[in-house]
Amino acid sequence: MLSDYKKLTLNSLTLYNIASRIMPYGVSSNYRYFEPYPLYLSRGKGSRVWDVDGNEYIDFNMAYGALGIGHSNPKLVKILKEKLENGTILGFEFADTLKLAKIIKSRFNVDMVRFSSTGTEATMHSIRIARAYTRKKKIIKFEGHYHGSHDQLLVNVSPEKNEVMKKSISSYGIPYDVVKNTLIAEWNNYESVEKLVKKEDVAAIIMEPIAMNMGLIKPDVSFLKGIFSLAKEYGFLIIFDEVKTGGKFYSGASGYYGLKPDLITLSKAIAGGLPLSVIAGKKEVMRVVGPNKTAHGGTFSANPLSVTASIVTLTQILTENSLYEAYKLNSMLSKGYQDFADDLDLDLTVSMWGTSGSIFFSKVLPKNYREFSEIDQRPWYKYFWLMLSNGIIPMADYDEQWTISTQHTKEDIMKHLEIAENILKKVKE
Ligand code: PLP
Repeated sequence: MLSDYKKLTLNSLTLYNIASRIMPYGVSSNYRYFEPYPLYLSRGKGSRVWDVDGNEYIDFNMAYGALGIGHSNPKLVKILKEKLENGTILGFEFADTLKLAKIIKSRFNVDMVRFSSTGTEATMHSIRIARAYTRKKKIIKFEGHYHGSHDQLLVNVSPEKNEVMKKSISSYGIPYDVVKNTLIAEWNNYESVEKLVKKEDVAAIIMEPIAMNMGLIKPDVSFLKGIFSLAKEYGFLIIFDEVKTGGKFYSGASGYYGLKPDLITLSKAIAGGLPLSVIAGKKEVMRVVGPNKTAHGGTFSANPLSVTASIVTLTQILTENSLYEAYKLNSMLSKGYQDFADDLDLDLTVSMWGTSGSIFFSKVLPKNYREFSEIDQRPWYKYFWLMLSNGIIPMADYDEQWTISTQHTKEDIMKHLEIAENILKKVKE
């Protein structure tokens, strides 16, 4: 299984051996490293990417969901080439940013908008804004939810099985003092939230409204609504981290559930693969941002290329229709996996939402991180290496999910399923 991957990726191995001497683990983000060594890619087009050995893959990782419009989308490439002539970054505010703010306002049902460059920055600012508005300190996050690489929310992101029950910091180098105001609740467990808000003076609760850093685990609707009721009763804010979900359903998870959180964060797919993020929300909350009030800044915030890319992406490419087409392909892929699970009698479950889906090598769908952490990941890795060796990147890791872009075709899905069926039979052996 692993031997096939190694045979096909000799140039990646060579690059890894060199790169790991000057870049820890040979990568620019820990999440790009996997055993035995990462894959080094050279280009992408449509639904495909090519690695440095010349292998072609149908890509379902789509840059961890950042490429809902597929690789080098022709509409985007054309406009970016033209706009490059006008400068990459201007310093003072780029006039078109207002156009984008209006698009975000109406599509995601928010009142006011600020832009940053990454999801990490967006969630970091969102909790600062919530604290400034409420004048309280404590933030609740959920086990297994990921909100980027800043200190205060790197808690219980992917704790070991025996660490799940207690608070655990997810990185070296973060002092306990920095996370002492971060409280941990259990996804899909209303009582775990209620207990905390009754006891503590909470500023905000931040969540991935569809958990997408432990596969794909949806909330029970009653659980979500319960949290909105608790927020009213106890006076804390709700932040939906829609960095992933915002590009996978036309108006994100808040639109899908018909809920209006106090703040939302967006990034990844909304700018077609360029770095851009959004912190947006209710007027009274967003108004705390400003000079000598609540800090928000960034040299690269709303840089012209990202703003242009986002306007084109949201108005011309990730439209309601194209997302619906991608959703239909996603249903076909998810059903295919479900059929294999039934026909081959596998301990395999499938979860999907919008244009994304994931599989778990388990008898029942996990409802939260605790159940997710009980799943033996060894079959997943066998599946992953075999899929790579057969020209499919199914997703980036066992805690990730696939993304169907507007450039995937029915043929791509059929090819994926044909290969997956053979591989799942081997994984079972
Ligand atoms: N929030 C969520 C839900 C994410 O999935 C991620 C990244 O995967 C982030 C925030 C952080 O985004 P970035 O990697 O752009 O900093």
